[in-house]
Amino acid sequence: MPAIGIDLGTTYSCVGVWQQGKVEIIANDQGNRTTPSYVAFTDTERLIGDAAKNQVAMNPSNTVFDAKRLIGRRFDDPKVQADAKHWPFRVVDEAGKPKIQVEFRGETKRFNPEEISSMVLTKMKETAEAYLGQKVRDAVVTVPAYFNDSQRQATKDAGAIAGLNVLRIINEPTAAALAYGLDKNLKGERNVLIFDLGGGTFDVSILSIDEGSLFEVRATAGDTHLGGEDFDSRLVDHFAAEFERKYRKNLRKNPRAVRRLRTAAERAKRTLSSSTEASVEIDALFEGIDFYTKVSRARFEELCADLFRGTLAPVEKALADAKMDKGAIHDIVLVGGSTRIPKIQSLLQNFFCGKQLNLSINPDEAVAYGAAVQAAILSGEGDTCSKLQDVLLVDVAPLSLGIETAGGVMTNIIERNARIPCKQTQTFTTYADNQPGVSVQVFEGERAMTKDNNLLGRFELSGIAPAPRGLPKIEVTFDLDANGILHVTAKDTASGRSSDVRITNDKGRLSREEIDRMLAEADRYREQDREQRERVAARNELEGYVFTVKQALQEHAERLPQEDREAVATICEETVRWLDNNSLAEKDEYRDKLEALQKRCSAVMAKLHQGAGNAAPGAQDCGAQFRQAGGNHSGPTVEEVD
Ligand code: ADP
Ligand code: MG
Repeated sequence: MPAIGIDLGTTYSCVGVWQQGKVEIIANDQGNRTTPSYVAFTDTERLIGDAAKNQVAMNPSNTVFDAKRLIGRRFDDPKVQADAKHWPFRVVDEAGKPKIQVEFRGETKRFNPEEISSMVLTKMKETAEAYLGQKVRDAVVTVPAYFNDSQRQATKDAGAIAGLNVLRIINEPTAAALAYGLDKNLKGERNVLIFDLGGGTFDVSILSIDEGSLFEVRATAGDTHLGGEDFDSRLVDHFAAEFERKYRKNLRKNPRAVRRLRTAAERAKRTLSSSTEASVEIDALFEGIDFYTKVSRARFEELCADLFRGTLAPVEKALADAKMDKGAIHDIVLVGGSTRIPKIQSLLQNFFCGKQLNLSINPDEAVAYGAAVQAAILSGEGDTCSKLQDVLLVDVAPLSLGIETAGGVMTNIIERNARIPCKQTQTFTTYADNQPGVSVQVFEGERAMTKDNNLLGRFELSGIAPAPRGLPKIEVTFDLDANGILHVTAKDTASGRSSDVRITNDKGRLSREEIDRMLAEADRYREQDREQRERVAARNELEGYVFTVKQALQEHAERLPQEDREAVATICEETVRWLDNNSLAEKDEYRDKLEALQKRCSAVMAKLHQGAGNAAPGAQDCGAQFRQAGGNHSGPTVEEVD
């Protein structure tokens, strides 16, 4: 059973698999090699990917995207609050966790971000299964380098809900570097800067690659909130202002108008990567007004100037962290759809004194490519291929990890950019005589005071034997696993009694029970999706049969006595009317109708076909033929529904 690599992007996702010595990036059922990370809910069905994104303007409040911006965060996280203002779907507070509230099949439903991401992962899994012709379970899933512990955990949980066995969570730039390393035959050590500007996240990483076999992440920097969507927003603002100037109307309050404008803005932006001007034409955008306009590349660059220029700061920071001069960088690798923007490329190239940028990896696919390579290595598939065998991955901790000590000071136990997996122990003690216990508070971040860093969790260690202050020895161990997930234990050695305490992550991590419940629900939704497809297929089959009968009747009317003709025509009309009035009937109702209709028409149909061109098919064969036709017919109709 092959293991797949999934790039679970903020805006687009991509899946790849290692096959016959190379990576295959798999196109989805729409033929696209990347799939929008979108899930939509309607009165009748759930849509994932292109189908969901395509209907966003029609159904904005129930079309969910950007789940990656919510995953593993608390509701009161300022980023969540800021983002929620811009989303057309509702985010509500449920016990401190953000939940996405939608209307689905006539009911109000709340989903965890993990569940939405699991639906996207399910789509990627199914895309791979359709291509491979077999079930898939094992996967490597990527996350931005800056994802903290709880975001990584939550991503892993999303995989579990999708029924995936997540072999490993790896950093996106590391995955891109893996793809890159396999593409090239490196001689000696090279320092590579990965510049990944996607739809929602920006990652800069500096890696050292030794003979193409050892990848060491030397430093990471970036912005979890910068990407193509921010450029889209600038264009949306620009167009909305222009609309207001021209028509004295503010369309910003109309979510449908804004969504349509956003879709047009993204399209214009893509055009501006290859042309110097893009036109926008939206009919009846707001209050019946058609909005036709143009935007130049120069204008777009001006609108985004600060954002574009801002991408250089993390580049400088990564260089400083890696203690490297820009001259020490051998290769600059572009990853992410937004690196197609010429201005971004020229800014970066100028920063590196005119050095040639490396664009040999398809920017949208590099991450999934590398994830697929890693999946093959971890599942042992690489054993048969020497190309994979010697690739060793060394990753680093994106943020320093430590605990709070007296006075609210951040005391680091694992330093930022330390290689992972790693395990560090430090000994602490009490600050008062006969202190019976200590409170261990775990933080991540680079600031000196814990109040400025991010609290990961806390726990109490009690039962310390009475002793003067400073005497007890409390060993605190930080164990950062290969996924970048942290386990903290504390042990009181002074009392002679060793007690281990596992950190209870209070970041709103899902419990095993919750995951199991969501897993069951995911199965239920999958079942509903299947039922919906079957329902539509049954309806199409009935419709197909009626029209075939009607057509046969028209073509060979003379073969039937008047009486039969009228009877059949009436039944057909009745059925068509029933279909019009029962667009949401159950599968079995359609099946029953079809069966009844076939029964009543089969004799007549046999007559209609008698003497027709080829050897006269019997009623039985006709049935089969019609079912086939119905099946074919259902294809386009299903797409239409999508
Ligand atoms: P992510 O992994 O962050 O979801 P991707 O790497 O797939 O993102 O990039 C998606 C972003 O790239 C979107 O914002 C999209 O508009 C943008 N993009 C794709 N193609 C182009 C292009 N030709 N020019 C500019 N931006 C593009
Ligand atoms: Mg990406």
